[in-house]
Amino acid sequence: MAARRKKAYFKACLKCKLLVPLNVEECPNCGGREFSEEWEGMVTVVDPENSVIAKRLNIAKPGRYAVKLRA
Ligand SMILES: [Zn+2]
Repeated sequence: MAARRKKAYFKACLKCKLLVPLNVEECPNCGGREFSEEWEGMVTVVDPENSVIAKRLNIAKPGRYAVKLRA
């Protein structure tokens, strides 16, 4: 059994980096079905219009996102 540490209980959408609970099968943001549990850094975007981080990461909708993915 692999002893890989899990980052909280979220996985990140490969397309839009949205973080969703592990039991979610479809990304509510972009409809993607591919996720990675290997991600780093969580950003919570409340107001994408006025968030520098959101602009840098190309985030258009509020939510929790991963900063880095290791797919
Ligand atoms: Zn997505």
